[in-house]
Formats: sequence, structure tokens, C-alpha cells
Amino acid sequence: MSASVADRKGRLHNMTTQEIRSLISQMTLEEKASMCSGKDFWHTQDIPRLGIPSTMVSDGPHGIRKHNMEKENASVHESIPSIGFPTACAQAASFNRELITLMGQTIGNECQAEDISVLLGPGVNIKRSPVCGRNFEYYSEDPYLATEMSGSLVKGIQSQNVGACLKHFFANNQETRRSSVSSNMDERTMHEIYLAAFEGAVKKHKPWSIMSSYNLVNEKHTTASKEILTDLLRDKWGFDGYVMSDWGAVFDRVAEAAAGMDLEMPSSEGENDKLLVAAVKNGTLAESVLDDIVEHILTIVFRYHENRNENAVWDMDADHEIARRIAQETMVLLKNENILPLTSDKKIAFIGKYAKKPRYQGGGSSHIYSRKITSALDAACEYCDVTYAQGFDDMEDVIDADLQKEAVNAAKAADVAVIFAGLPDLIESEAFDRDDLKMPANQNALIEAVAAIQPNTVVVLHNGSPIEMPWLSQVKGVLEAYLSGEAAGGAVVDILFGKVNPSGKLPETFPLKLEDNPSYLFFPGEGNTSTYNEGIYVGYRYYDKKKMDVLFPFGYGLSYTTFAYSNLTLDKTELNDTDTLTVSVDVTNTGSIRGKEVVQLYVSDPESFVGRPVKELRDFAKVDLAPGETKTVTFTLDKRAFAYYNTVIHDWHVETGEFIIMIGKSSRQIELEASVMVQSTVKIPVTYTVDTPMCDIMRDEGAYEITKGYLHVDNLFVNDESQAAAMEAITPKMQEATFYYMPLRDMLSYGVGKMTAEDLHELVDKLNAYAGA
Ligand code: BGC
Repeated sequence: MSASVADRKGRLHNMTTQEIRSLISQMTLEEKASMCSGKDFWHTQDIPRLGIPSTMVSDGPHGIRKHNMEKENASVHESIPSIGFPTACAQAASFNRELITLMGQTIGNECQAEDISVLLGPGVNIKRSPVCGRNFEYYSEDPYLATEMSGSLVKGIQSQNVGACLKHFFANNQETRRSSVSSNMDERTMHEIYLAAFEGAVKKHKPWSIMSSYNLVNEKHTTASKEILTDLLRDKWGFDGYVMSDWGAVFDRVAEAAAGMDLEMPSSEGENDKLLVAAVKNGTLAESVLDDIVEHILTIVFRYHENRNENAVWDMDADHEIARRIAQETMVLLKNENILPLTSDKKIAFIGKYAKKPRYQGGGSSHIYSRKITSALDAACEYCDVTYAQGFDDMEDVIDADLQKEAVNAAKAADVAVIFAGLPDLIESEAFDRDDLKMPANQNALIEAVAAIQPNTVVVLHNGSPIEMPWLSQVKGVLEAYLSGEAAGGAVVDILFGKVNPSGKLPETFPLKLEDNPSYLFFPGEGNTSTYNEGIYVGYRYYDKKKMDVLFPFGYGLSYTTFAYSNLTLDKTELNDTDTLTVSVDVTNTGSIRGKEVVQLYVSDPESFVGRPVKELRDFAKVDLAPGETKTVTFTLDKRAFAYYNTVIHDWHVETGEFIIMIGKSSRQIELEASVMVQSTVKIPVTYTVDTPMCDIMRDEGAYEITKGYLHVDNLFVNDESQAAAMEAITPKMQEATFYYMPLRDMLSYGVGKMTAEDLHELVDKLNAYAGA
């Protein structure tokens, strides 16, 4: 049967819900249950008699990692050659939504060419600790940046009628005990940080799929959380695709089906399907649950199948060039003491294994088999001749005296030494966390040895997450190249030689030492419990609040040109939380070469009843400016930019008051500020009791007015000058504070008989009547 309807122009329409439901009505119970799990490791189940095709899902997400089905006996980890694009940590550093959408489009087209219906990514988990093994696969310590950048990839992939799968939903922030650990946190932290990393991308870009994670949250499997998978994700956020399990995450299929976990991956060879059938038969699971699951899965299966582009082809060379173009914007210039860009007339030595064999991706399920890898050494010939010395080996951390000596000699013979160092796969990978922030000791020793004899030393770093840099003061330049895909080497030399002006900014803080990180005392937890005691204070939210020095702050990155900011303008000075605020600022390239600047907008709530970070990233824009050119950047802020998650109303809430709009080059370099008054339109329900302190009553003018009528606290204050001794003991400040924190019930004690118990209860009743009004 044909599941699609062509319009007059021949375009295919997705099957209607009604048509899908009609198909489901023709299925046996066993057929419905069979649809609830994979056909094998990488495919959805088919039902040929009803014309339901099987579709392939595949890792990703930084390029396709399609299981090599052609090869006989190929292990599930053997994949076809493809293109390794910059990993998520690097994509985030670009702060360029359009560029990452281009990456998504390119990969989406590759998926069409390879008949992949859903790409398993992007991974958007928050970088709670810099040592999480999969940080290279994740975007940021900041939920807004994570959700904007991952959403851009989703947008690009899905523009090709291929699904993206946001993963790992949610709070999968460590690899240690990843399948059994429970990430325990309070409600506000959950919504403001860990769910927010997914929320924007789900709402804005509607991923076709989402992968529930291995870990538990607050002692409950994410795969079995109806509150998260159905009430929040589907009903509140409007998710309309299918939820699939991470590979092997299923633990109680029947409970998970009831909670909204649609597709078990990979196949459990029918074992769990049988449980679903039995549960329906014995009445513990409604058959309608299976109907819903099958509807979710078929909606996506047909959305892909009917829009399949049989003619899609992928040009590996062209895509490699796109990977290089993207990589050029993902690298962050961390230090430059008049050493970069290099000029071709200099004698240059490239030192370090990663000059020849770049580390451009991480290990595990995202690992791509690249057909072509451009090393910096290969690409440098586009600019000049360079000499090369390996310097270190990364298979074990021992200093090889011969390799080091050869490197020092090469550096001595050159005008400039560029050392390519970083983290090896043995230290940074899926499945385990790092022990610390250290680079291998043999690499640190090499950098120090080279820098000792060559004053013009530059370090290029290939790593997926922050490291310590004990040699920082001894070198003139540092380029954080992250894990920027198979064309990373080309992009590195484009930056080193100034063909490309670096424009990446750090999507995470580089702390001075691991012990500074807010999760340090609680990571990776004890046994199967990881308690997120640092709450919302993750990354720069913590370092800023604690006024701590860091190695490099969030949002930091240098350029070969300079930028100036002016004319910060807000379209209003006051607004309600239901209004939007338009913010504009002029950015000028004040240097002599073209460059791109990331304009960062932070919002600060300087005075609040709840704890707030000093500032939070609420928007950003990347602008391309010729020398001398000025562009006006405009941002539109809505309620969310001012809000925190309130646990009384279980929703986002803005406290009435003044907010500061900050425009910065980084989280620690704010250039311009302006303030605005925001008025809340939502009243948080309050329950007054005899224990309510005066300070909480004074928060609400109306409540205070009512209370004033009963206010008898004659014994509380010592105003009489003649009681000098008492005044000494009880200072005015103390009196004020005593009143401020006094519970209503104390009016009985301090009222010298003027307040009765009946009065007190009448007051409480009046206050509650007022609050409920
Ligand atoms: C990983 C996922 C991946 C899946 C399939 C799991 O172990 O956590 O990210 O998509 O395997 O390879």
C-alpha cells in the first residue's frame, strides 16, 4: 500500500494521524508489541503485511557512523567510512547557529544518501564537571548555549527530512556508573540547568526523537518517569516524536511503556515484547498505551519514509571542505603575545604527534571512521615548509628522551615552535571519567623543554574538555583547537597563518584546578548516588558568585582584530513579564583585518529574594565585520530571560524589580550595561501562619497594611533615651532585625496584653483571605 499522498507538484505528504491509527487498528496485539522494540541493533521493526517499513537509526552525531551491513560478520561497531565533523564541544565554541545548521544539513543529506532515518544525537548534557568522560560530546556548562547550539544542529539535520535524536535525557553528567547512578537534585536545579539544556531545542526545533538516559534522577529511572517523559516532554514541551531508550537502558519494560518510553533499543530479541503482551492480557497495561507508542513510532517512520530522497548523493570531498570551514570557527585563541599569525618567511617547526596525527574526535559510540584526515603538517604546505618532530608518544605517559631531544633540536633550529599537544583517547572517552585536569606528564615536560630554549613557542591543543596549563606563562601563544573533526589540521593552519581570523569563544570555564569546580566534593558521588549539592551554581554561575579566579572564563576568546561596543539601547525602561524587551548594541571592528565577534548578552538580577547567579547568558550573536565596519546587533528578550524556576508554582517566574542587561566579550569582560524594571504579572500563592516572619509579610504591601492594624510590639523596642544601658545592649540595628524576623505569634509576647490569641488567628485568616483573593 502507498502510505503517502502526492500533491499537484508531486510532493509527498505525511500520513495523517487518522491513517496511522487505522493501520494500528489492523495490528494484532503481538504486532503492536513488536513495534515497541528494535528489530535489531540499529533498525525499527517492520510489518510487511501492513506496508510498514523498517528504518535505520545510526550514531553520530558528529558525522554518520553507519554500521557496515555489507561486510559479513561486521561487529556492531564497524562502520562505513564517512566525514568526521567538529564534535559538540567544538561546535559550541563557534557560537554560530547558522554554521552548525549547515553542519546539520550536510550530515542530514549524508543520512538520506545512506538511508538513515534518525541520527542518534546531538548530546546536550550539561558539563557539570570538567572531567566527565563524554564532555567532548556535549555542548556547554550553560543550558542556553547548549540548547541553542544543539537545536541548530537539529534544525539542519531535520531540514533534510531526517530525524535528530536529542540525548541523553537527562542529567547524564558522568560516565562513572553511568547505568546505575542516580543524579539527585532539587527541582529548581533540575529545571533551570539540566532540563533547560533540552527544553529550548525541543520547543523550537521539534526533534523527531529523544533518547532517555542510562542514569536515574532522584532515584527514579529516566526511562520510567511519566512526570518527565509524558507530563513534561510531551504534554508541556510539545514533543511529538518517539522516545527511545539508550542502548540497553530498559529495566522494566511494562512500567517504561506506561511512562511514555516508546522504543526499546536495541532489540531484546522479543523478550520484552512478550512482557508487554502479557501485561495487556492480564490487565496491568492498557492496550491503548501500546497504540500510543506505535502511533509515535509510525509517525516518525513514515515522516522519514515518505520524504525519502532516493536521489541523495554525498560528495565526501565537498563535505570534508565543509568540515574544514566549520572547524575554522570552532577554535579558541587563548593567548597571543604578538606571535600569531605566523608569517611564511619564518622557519617553523611543528612538534608533537598531533601535528601529524591530529586527535580530532573522541572514543566511543560517536567515533567516525574518517576516509580522509587532514593533519596540520599536511596542510601547512599550503603556506610554507615546516619541519617536524614527534616529541612524544600518547600510548603511554613516559618521557621518551630521544623524541624529546629531537623536538628540542628542531625547535632550536627554527624561529617559531608550534607544539601540538592534548588529551589522548586513553584519558578522554565515553565509558569513563577523567581523574583530573592534567595533560599527560610527558607532553607537559615536552612543552616546558621546548619553551625553555625557544622563546617563540605556541601550543595548539587537541582536547575535548578543560585542562590545566602549568606552562602557560612560558609560551607566547595558545590555540584551543578542541576536537574539531577530520579537517581540524587544515583549520589550525588557516588560523596559525592568519588566513582565518579566530572567532571561537569558550563554551565552558577552564578552572585553575579541578578542586575549584563546584561539583568537586560530590563528583562522581558515593556508590550509586551522585548528589548535585552545588545546585544551580554550575560553571561560571559558581565561579562568578564566588568571585574566583579562573584560568580562562566562559565566553572568552581572542581575535587578530579588536572590537568596540557602543550605543546600548533598550526599547523600554519598564515592562511587564508578559512583554518583550528589544536590546540593541553597535559593534565596530576597530582593527585592521576582517573578523567575527561573538556578542554576548547576560542578564543579572542584582536584588532578589531567591539566590540568583551574578549573571546568566540569555542571548548571543556572531557578527562578521570588515575593518572599520559597524553593525547593530538586536536581541529580543522575553520573560524567560529574567526568570528563575519557582518551586511553589512549578513554573518560571520573574521577581518584580530591576534587572541589568550586560553586553560582554566574555562572562568576565562586560563592556556595556543598562538597567530595566520588570513587573511580574504572576502572584505566587502564599500561605500565612502564626510562624510567618514579618519580613515575608513586608514583601507584600497589602499584607503589611493588614498586619499594621494589629501591630503591637511595645516590648520590642527601646526608644527611651533614659534607658541608655538597654539601648547599648540592644542597638537600633538589632531592634530592626528582631522585628524583621519576628514571627506573627510573637505579637502576643511583645504586645503587652494588647493582642489576644483570637486577634492573632483573625489576622492570619485575614492575611490568607487576602492572599487567596
Ligand atoms: C550511547 C549512545 C549511543 C548508543 C548507540 C550508547 O551506549 O550512550 O550515545 O547512541 O550507545 O551506539
